[in-house]
Amino acid sequence: MSRPLVLITAPVPDNLRDQLDKHYATLDLPADACLATAVEPRQAKHVCGILCMATTPVNEQVLAHFPQLRVVSNFAVGFDNIDIDAATKRRILVCNTPGVLDAAVADLTIGLIISLSRDLVRGDAYVRDGSWEQAGPPPLTADIRGKTLGLLGMGRIGREVARLAQAFNMPVLYHNRSPDHEADASGLAQYCSRDTLFAQADFLSVHVPLTPQTRSSIGEHEFSLMKPSAYLVNTGRGAVINETALVTALRTGQIAGAGLDVMAQEPLPASHPFCKLPNVILQAHVGSATVETRHAMITLATHNLLDALGNNRPQAMVNPHLLDSDAPSAQSETP
Ligand code: NAP
Repeated sequence: MSRPLVLITAPVPDNLRDQLDKHYATLDLPADACLATAVEPRQAKHVCGILCMATTPVNEQVLAHFPQLRVVSNFAVGFDNIDIDAATKRRILVCNTPGVLDAAVADLTIGLIISLSRDLVRGDAYVRDGSWEQAGPPPLTADIRGKTLGLLGMGRIGREVARLAQAFNMPVLYHNRSPDHEADASGLAQYCSRDTLFAQADFLSVHVPLTPQTRSSIGEHEFSLMKPSAYLVNTGRGAVINETALVTALRTGQIAGAGLDVMAQEPLPASHPFCKLPNVILQAHVGSATVETRHAMITLATHNLLDALGNNRPQAMVNPHLLDSDAPSAQSETP
């Protein structure tokens, strides 16, 4: 009988690969592979697990292609690439990597806030292209101390950003669907309505997940509420923002600028209007992209997969209730 097969689209280092190889055959595929067409039915019937990047689509068609699939382990905390309802209906466990990347993403968020307010990217160009020599010092910039930080979504990453903002004496407002009473009581941040958040923030930072409710939810209305001196920072997911409306708001001076780590289309084509706007700082979806954080993420994602297949409780699950209910799980092909 063939060994149970694990599909891998994430970068797994040798030490973790050895642990997988002890029990499973593995098949490496590109991060953006269509798994349903990339794996022929003869092999598909042996697939018990998928260890994937957040850019690997795991939709109903993919899930239906693998009759023995028991776990999808995402190498990311966001799971908008996976049809969770379809997986849950099929009793397939979905795992992710919360917590281990909070600090890296929060650091980048604060980095973007400082870069925007102190105009660091244009400041660098000003020195390199000789403007300093020819025209003297560049224009003055602005402090972040005392400026209001607005967090749309204050979960794990948002809270970490709020903690860092305290070091800069920034008052923090936030909006979630439900208030975080502990954050309010401790003085970490103050809950407010969504409209108040957009109207009062000097820096509006996006940390909500991409869901049907949040998709394209920041647009004309929200930009019309923002101060002309305010900046938008997005280290969440690009598609949460209506990018056409954002380009207009940036071009017309409705808002002062934006720092974007994520975009609706990734990689962002160099021809995109964002790349032509001087008041935008762009990053290539690198929120968690440090050696230490990526190592912690792949370790957690691999252990999640091994635990699920070995009938142990994984550390991080998106649909944990599958393990707590009585219904039998998909037939195991694992040793
Ligand atoms: P989390 O702990 O689940 O926090 C998400 C927060 O958003 C929660 O406080 C939630 O509160 C709030 N929220 C959800 N839907 C909302 C809505 N419709 N309106 C207002 N608030 C809403 O997630 P996290 O670990 O902080 O991660 C956040 C996101 O960051 C991930 O989903 C991912 O997309 C992104 N991310 C990006 C990178 C990167 O490389 N740039 C890296 C990691 C993560 P309520 O449930 O009370 O609404």
